[in-house]
Amino acid sequence: MTALTDRFGRVHDYLRISVTDRCNLRCLYCMPEEGVQFEPSENLLTYDQIEEVVRVGAGLGISKLRLTGGEPLVRPGLDGLIRRLAAIPGIRDISLTTNGVLLADQAEALRAAGLNRVNISLDTLDASRFRFIARRGDLKRVLQGIEAAAKVGFAPIKLNCVLLKGVNEDEIAAFLDMAAKQPLHVRFIEYMPIGHADDNWRNHYLPLTRVLEIAAENKLEVEPLSDVLGNGPSEDYRIKGGIGSFGLIHPISDHFCQRCNRLRLTADGSIKPCLYWVDELSVKPALGNPDSMHEIFMRAMDIKPLNHEMAAKLANEDQSHEPTARRMSQIGG
Ligand code: SAM
Ligand code: SF4
Repeated sequence: MTALTDRFGRVHDYLRISVTDRCNLRCLYCMPEEGVQFEPSENLLTYDQIEEVVRVGAGLGISKLRLTGGEPLVRPGLDGLIRRLAAIPGIRDISLTTNGVLLADQAEALRAAGLNRVNISLDTLDASRFRFIARRGDLKRVLQGIEAAAKVGFAPIKLNCVLLKGVNEDEIAAFLDMAAKQPLHVRFIEYMPIGHADDNWRNHYLPLTRVLEIAAENKLEVEPLSDVLGNGPSEDYRIKGGIGSFGLIHPISDHFCQRCNRLRLTADGSIKPCLYWVDELSVKPALGNPDSMHEIFMRAMDIKPLNHEMAAKLANEDQSHEPTARRMSQIGG
């Protein structure tokens, strides 16, 4: 099924769904520390409405879903939503991106509901630095979440680590060591200038070439992995003799838009064809009308841009579209 093919021939089979913009953390690259205005809950799509959007998407070739947020595990009854989405014909894979704080409590129910995979965000292995980056919460809970995820059988477990110059750069070697010694896939992610992150992005942006330099400095032999682990844009490596792996997601220093297969659904009900640009299409007027919903998906294909231009922003060059003002927590990452 290739109905969702855009003007540049890219086929879309992957929908990322932000189920809430709320979060129990305030990561410095994602949200301000205080005073965040969340969407009133009546503006969020209900689980019935999310299911309705996914049914139409699945009819057009969407087969992979990722639930994200905000923090998806703060929205009650997520396992119930997963059970309903897993039963939609055509949906073959459901994954979750979480900060892990509530995962130990919910891992078993999520697995039983049909969740296939989890990505857990982990930017530091140091408890006080965790408080500096996330401003709330407790690293211990995240580590317990990772353990619980492994125990109930999620595989592969991926860790998302946003690299921040001058903040966690000195932990690259420790994360590589983790990737060598544990059955985990560590994904190093470049800090992106989206929404709130724009404020201190220039000071902390770090190109991921640094990861391979540090691997070499530590005399680690790395080899590219040919089999792609999941749907991601990640460039994957194994450390020779290690049991885990690591990946580099570098949307800025080497963008991967030519392989983009994804659409995003915001918590308040808009389809975003591109993470970065302002353009989006509200699904709300089409609720209850599958033909109109179908039209919205097709329109998203018509307006999807060739690429984001975050690198142009870094170089202070003009950009061809207007960037989104939404925070990452509203879009889902
Ligand atoms: N709360 C969940 C979490 O943190 O995993 C899910 C939502 S969060 C917006 C999804 C992913 O986006 C996380 O891995 C987070 O680290 C990443 N992220 C947030 N802001 C970012 C930024 N400015 N640049 C790069 N990644 C970012
Ligand atoms: Fe919350 Fe995730 Fe944003 Fe951190 S990155 S503030 S955990 S939504």
